[in-house]
Amino acid sequence: MKHRIVVLGAGYAGAFSAGYLARRLHSDDFEITVVNAESDFVERLRLHQVAAGRDLPHRPLAEVFAGTGVRLRVARVTGVDVEQRSVTVVDGNGADRLEYDTLLYTLGSTVAENGVPGVGEHAFHVAARPAALRLRAHLAALNAGDRVLVVGGNLTAIEAATEFAEARPDLRVDLVTSGELGGWLGVKARRHLLRAFDRFEITVHEHTRITAVEPAAAIAADGTVFDADATVWAAGFAVHPVAAASGLAVEPNGQITVDSQMRSVSHPDVYVAGDAAFVIGANGLPLPMSCASAGPTSKQAIAAIIGDRTGREIKTTSLTYLGNHISLGRKDGIFQLVDGAAQAKPGALRGRAAAWVKSAIIGVAAWSVSHPTVGQAGHNYRAGVARERASDVAAG
Ligand SMILES: Cc1cc2nc3c(=O)[nH]c(=O)nc-3n(C[C@H](O)[C@H](O)[C@H](O)COP(=O)(O)OP(=O)(O)OC[C@H]3O[C@@H](n4cnc5c(N)ncnc54)[C@H](O)[C@@H]3O)c2cc1C
Repeated sequence: MKHRIVVLGAGYAGAFSAGYLARRLHSDDFEITVVNAESDFVERLRLHQVAAGRDLPHRPLAEVFAGTGVRLRVARVTGVDVEQRSVTVVDGNGADRLEYDTLLYTLGSTVAENGVPGVGEHAFHVAARPAALRLRAHLAALNAGDRVLVVGGNLTAIEAATEFAEARPDLRVDLVTSGELGGWLGVKARRHLLRAFDRFEITVHEHTRITAVEPAAAIAADGTVFDADATVWAAGFAVHPVAAASGLAVEPNGQITVDSQMRSVSHPDVYVAGDAAFVIGANGLPLPMSCASAGPTSKQAIAAIIGDRTGREIKTTSLTYLGNHISLGRKDGIFQLVDGAAQAKPGALRGRAAAWVKSAIIGVAAWSVSHPTVGQAGHNYRAGVARERASDVAAG
């Protein structure tokens, strides 16, 4: 019987990993199935652009995996039973159960509501395509002078606010953040950021925590009422509750705790990559949820799966956090590198050049994910004696 590898999610981490595994592992010994809720690969990095009215290239997963041997199942994962080694999925035909021998969990993340009342009911977000499309329709229906309130002061909030202000200069865009806008950036990068917000006429309210969202307003802790025709919640990401409900060891934010080779510390036949993984990076700090982390965590998970299943040596990938590339609309940006302690380096690439670099990175990421086997040497590794899997992190 073939060894069944099931990959949950076909985003940046899952699509790349499934293709890579298919290229490396012999199809006589291994069967690889990918489950994804949507039938095409979604460039999540560009969902704020989608909300602002831009269209993305259509990348059907059936084409992405054509000829690779990967089986595609378009369905929503509703549960994982790590004791029975099975996954429950739901599609148009109802519920089904898939059994696995090895699971790669890459379901990514969604918006973090942070327990704030009204966010789920009244706020919009850009963390998933259906939500971005809902916001797009809403923004398109707004009139000149209507107010858009972006809540958050980090990457997604910055990119969303600037994108909306550039695409719809007739709207009034405000941003509210509990801290400082881009407070982690180096001095030059932050100055550039604030100038861009001035240019776009986005009003920034720092040190202001939103504690409730209503249909046409957001309320701050000090009682200030921000009237809003659209409140866009961009105050962080959280992992889907499927992970915690499965019985896997998870962190308080729902991320699955893994060892340095991306194995779940509680269930080592479950590997995790991308936003769903809580892993300590090369700098001794947790890797941030980002596409930049999806790459190395996927490579390490793939190496561990191949090593564990074939007996081959497991290559180590450096789980390095290098910095952020931030778009400020279509023609401006910031490329901020960080040092070994995750602190911003003094200089940063800014302006058009940074926008060009960001757009090139996004293009390369999308291309490599949607062509997961191109340029990969085929090895056809046979199944070998399974390795003793020892976690280097204790389950909590
Ligand atoms: C607007 C925006 C801008 C961003 N910009 C940047 C950036 O500039 N740089 C950067 O590094 N990061 C950025 N990020 C973060 C980045 O998108 C994520 O870190 C990255 O997508 C994580 O990859 P992943 O494979 O773990 O998850 P995803 O890419 O989200 O893939 C998860 C996949 O799982 C599927 N899925 C989810 N739930 C289920 C389910 N229950 N059943 C079946 N399938 C399911 C989804 O459809 C998706 O295909 C941005 C995010 C957003 C929202």
